Amino acid sequence: MNIGIDIDNTIGDTFRGIIEYYVRNGHDVNKEDLILEEGWVKELKGIATEKDINILFQTSKDFLDNIAPYPATRAILSLSRHHHLHLITARPKSADISRRETYNWLKKHNIIVDSVTHTDNKPDIIKKLEIDVMIEDSPYEVPRIVSLGIPILLLDQPYNQELNHESITRFTHWLEIPTLIKRLTTKQSQEALLVQEVAK
Ligand SMILES: [Mg+2]
Repeated sequence: MNIGIDIDNTIGDTFRGIIEYYVRNGHDVNKEDLILEEGWVKELKGIATEKDINILFQTSKDFLDNIAPYPATRAILSLSRHHHLHLITARPKSADISRRETYNWLKKHNIIVDSVTHTDNKPDIIKKLEIDVMIEDSPYEVPRIVSLGIPILLLDQPYNQELNHESITRFTHWLEIPTLIKRLTTKQSQEALLVQEVAK
């Protein structure tokens, strides 16, 4: 299968990274100060706007390098033996630092994949790469991906509780992923068999 995987808040704890970056720079903030909209930062209360945060993704090696990964590495390694893995991220594609530091971060944490695409149009890339299943967290992206008709494995986050659809399967830990993917692979091959039977 072709598996699409988001980066921020799916394989890395980006919100914690934002808070820690501002703490390192002398601000007294915590996660409660993050004001979210559609699962993304609108404001870090009184300190940074959405624009400031977006600039961090384009300019700050310190910020990008220090984002802690979720315990996803082992699952990703095990998936890579049987599947094609494609990271699809909304991190800016035009900024060299964003691309380079994302690449370095993946290497540093032994996350080895077939491709990394930076895009502001995930559905477009999902179609182009013929992705069979997408692993995501975002209340903005998920409804757009659902409309493509592919299953979505949704990392359970406080801000995505309202997302609910028959093609969404929630998971709380990356340890669950290999089993969930196996289930989808089996289902896919059973459906293919059924199509063959009907065609006979
Ligand atoms: Mg995300």
